[in-house]
Amino acid sequence: MAGAVEIETASPNVISEVEILAVDFDPTAVVAEPLPPVVTAADGGPSESEEEEEGVGKPVKKSREIVLGRNVHTSCLAVTEPEANDEFTGDKDAYMAGVLARYRKTLMERTKHHLGYPYNLDFEYGALAQLQHFSINNLGDPFIESNYGVHSRQFEVGVLDWFARLWEIEKNEYWGYITNCGTEGNLHGILVGREVFPDGILYASRESHYSIFKAARMYRMECVKVDTLVSGEIDCSDFRVKLLANKDKPAIINVNIGTTVKGAVDDLDLVIQTLEESGFSHDRFYIHCDGALFGLMMPFVKRAPKVTFKKPIGSVSVSGHKFVGCPMPCGVQITRMEHINVLSSNVEYLASRDATIMGSRNGHAPIFLWYTLNRKGYKGFQKEVQKCLRNAHYLKDRLRGAGISAMLNELSSTVVFERPRDEEFVRRWQLACEGNIAHVVVMPNVTIEKLDLFLDELVEKRSTWYQEEHDQPPCIAADVGKENCACALHK
Ligand SMILES: *Cc1c(COP(=O)(O)O)cnc(C)c1O
Repeated sequence: MAGAVEIETASPNVISEVEILAVDFDPTAVVAEPLPPVVTAADGGPSESEEEEEGVGKPVKKSREIVLGRNVHTSCLAVTEPEANDEFTGDKDAYMAGVLARYRKTLMERTKHHLGYPYNLDFEYGALAQLQHFSINNLGDPFIESNYGVHSRQFEVGVLDWFARLWEIEKNEYWGYITNCGTEGNLHGILVGREVFPDGILYASRESHYSIFKAARMYRMECVKVDTLVSGEIDCSDFRVKLLANKDKPAIINVNIGTTVKGAVDDLDLVIQTLEESGFSHDRFYIHCDGALFGLMMPFVKRAPKVTFKKPIGSVSVSGHKFVGCPMPCGVQITRMEHINVLSSNVEYLASRDATIMGSRNGHAPIFLWYTLNRKGYKGFQKEVQKCLRNAHYLKDRLRGAGISAMLNELSSTVVFERPRDEEFVRRWQLACEGNIAHVVVMPNVTIEKLDLFLDELVEKRSTWYQEEHDQPPCIAADVGKENCACALHK
């Protein structure tokens, strides 16, 4: 409540109790919080070390230092109070325009040197600029109009139908929505599984995205981590052992259609077969497919295990801002209609149904997806997938040619290689690293020219990092297999 409210009342006692802010209150004069120091895992900051394994198995101890990014408090842009005469001088407008112009330049530079995250940064949505003036919100169920009229459900359902066709489920048999990101799709998929099987155990491979384990914590589910092969795929022999140890409880399984770090695609058919052979009938398991990364690429790769609702799966999710490319994070989640009725409730205030994780939902995102799906179509995506796989092979071959350890999974455009020694270099190319490995995710905007620039720079820098005889690049055989390792021992 603002303090400047003047209260005219008969009771002077009340007035004296109202606290009135000093006229010259200056919020910037508030003592700044002391800057927290940069945290590393060694200081006991957030880390993966000493991670307790949930469910069966012994606790695993991994100790490794995690490098965190720079503390933004040292470079943030303060919000300042407008001056009384700003309207006349225009100083503040000019200042803000300057800040934005510089920011735009930074964005252009950062976009040019980005390789590590699976974001397609190449898109053109100029035609949608006219919609910026509207507060488009699809709160509630996509299929049931709410009383809030400024929505884009007609676009949202069109996009959902497109994905339903891709994953082979009839219009009257699916339910879904456009989420805020791949994580929200995972949170929703796991929640549907949990509502279908309240006492179910969640199984996910160790290399699953962290949002899966977050879901397990949020929903307080028992969670069993399954081992992975060197490729990053789920190890179904370990899965079988763990299923057999928990035969009395239904199974909720996260299947990765592209893992975050290695781009490994879990073998959906083998997962289903393992469930069946372990005595789990179709009414005792729920499969969520995390297709955040490759959910939209796999349908266009011939040898890939097909993701389809003709198989006994419960839900599929995908990120909209990754392979598709979109200026704001978004995603798609599709599940079976029969499951969603377990989860939803009608809300009178909305005149719609509540079955989503979030309340208000970005109504712009569906229009961006609708626009790009219309322009590219299945054929366009197919071409882009081919280009990505081709360029990824080029990158891997050139890395190996330069004597650098590198791995590329067959169905993937994620090239895993030896972590560059220099953090500056990692930051410049915005590489995602884990332990001794780094990766480049080849998206449609990653051209051969960009890869050449990166490779030339890497090779040149690397020659300065490893000059001494005793100073050798790390062995990454444990991460990528001996045959992909080019360290002194394995080359
Ligand atoms: C990126 C990713 C996610 C999370 O998606 P967001 O859109 O970033 O929330 C989930 N799973 C996998 C495999 C991913 O690569």
